[in-house]
Amino acid sequence: MRYISTRGQAPARDFADVLLAGLAEDGGLFMPETWPHFSPADLRAMRGLPYPELAARVMQPFVGGAIPFEVLRTICHESYAGFGHPAIVPLIQLETGLFVQELFHGPTLAFKDMAMQVLGRLFDYVLTQRDKRVTIVGATSGDTGSAAIEAMAGRDRIDIMILHPHERTSLVQRRQMTTVHAANVGNVAVEGTFDDCQDIVKAMFADTGFRDEVRLSAVNSINWARIAAQIPYYFAAALALGAPDREVAFSVPTGNFGNVLAAWAARRMGLPVARLIVGSNRNDILARFLESNDMSMVPVEPSLSPSMDIQVSSNFERVLFELLDRDADATRQTMLSFRETGRMAVPEAIWHRARGVFHGFRLDDAGTEAEIRRLHAAAGYLADPHSAIGIAAARALPCGGGVPVVAMATAHPAKFPDAMERATGQRPALPPRMADLFEREERFTVLPNDLGTVEAAVRALVGRNAG
Ligand SMILES: *Cc1c(COP(=O)(O)O)cnc(C)c1O
Repeated sequence: MRYISTRGQAPARDFADVLLAGLAEDGGLFMPETWPHFSPADLRAMRGLPYPELAARVMQPFVGGAIPFEVLRTICHESYAGFGHPAIVPLIQLETGLFVQELFHGPTLAFKDMAMQVLGRLFDYVLTQRDKRVTIVGATSGDTGSAAIEAMAGRDRIDIMILHPHERTSLVQRRQMTTVHAANVGNVAVEGTFDDCQDIVKAMFADTGFRDEVRLSAVNSINWARIAAQIPYYFAAALALGAPDREVAFSVPTGNFGNVLAAWAARRMGLPVARLIVGSNRNDILARFLESNDMSMVPVEPSLSPSMDIQVSSNFERVLFELLDRDADATRQTMLSFRETGRMAVPEAIWHRARGVFHGFRLDDAGTEAEIRRLHAAAGYLADPHSAIGIAAARALPCGGGVPVVAMATAHPAKFPDAMERATGQRPALPPRMADLFEREERFTVLPNDLGTVEAAVRALVGRNAG
């Protein structure tokens, strides 16, 4: 399988290159040159497979010649071996026609683990093949940093440094990052905001001397391998509910559009998906787009569901490329003018196409809290604020015709104890394997908001592990 850029001005690459590069050189996002397809007979043959086995089969066409199937299969088995639920992605019925699929049983209790665990092992394999090392640097306001650290800790050919804003992340999130004691992991608390952390990371990538010296790499949500590793659980849910002989709908609490893009890809690959519901909090750029073709950037406001607090959904470019029938020039022009004007001009016909599949939904904090309370009272179910938005969206936009809706539960309620306690009177306990999180020793360095100082810290981490 080869990959092309949504902006059409970068050469095609194979899976291993796309994995290591993340973003294409022309600023576009990589997309598979052709979509793999699973026939109804293929789908029937995958019913009842253990999740790691299913994951390997669904990802295999994307990995193409870059990684042998047996290696991919081992990677999938190892990636999910540490999950806290034997079904890996359990499907739970809340009411007639409404299900949740829990994606939060991984080491950091959020759905990012589903892809990041696979990504760490793919990096290891490809870097060993090429006899190379990389340094992963990232900024985090929460879930991504901890999932990346868990996935990369102890890997021979990778150093990882994660920047978080000092005293501006939740305690659970910070401790998940700072209590991982592997020689290749570094944590910096920057005296500044999340945006300051992101600016430092961007500046490090722009500093070509430094970038080449430490061989910088990233694992952000535009990496195609992360999308590919998120597709299999949509297959798992649909197959369990009767695919290919019965349609399903999915409701996805959305931020950077990576998770719902994976659902769209599953549909494109032959899964019978009737509709995709895109859940937003008050940061509702996607809901506004789907409602009235208004894709305009407004400042981000904090909410109860911080992983959905976004100004722009970076993976939307991939869907735009598809909606434009893969016209890379049109995609590039649309994205460049969006950056310039803060407003995306999507032709009316393309907008109607988007609305044929995607349905937008928005819920503010009061509504989110009410939904958490309602779910707890009605079904004894504890949904975290992100998952509650997805569930509320599924209830608001039923498909009819007996088509079940599956809402994606993206974080464990114990990650958001304050919101849960306010809504239900209960503080959910951390799972037993993490119960000592607050007793573990933390390791991080507090540094000023200064590029040179942070670069020196990255150099020190890399130097310690070289040779
Ligand atoms: C990252 C995240 C999301 C948003 O997912 P996207 O792929 O960015 O749309 C939703 N919920 C939780 C808990 C997350 O960590």
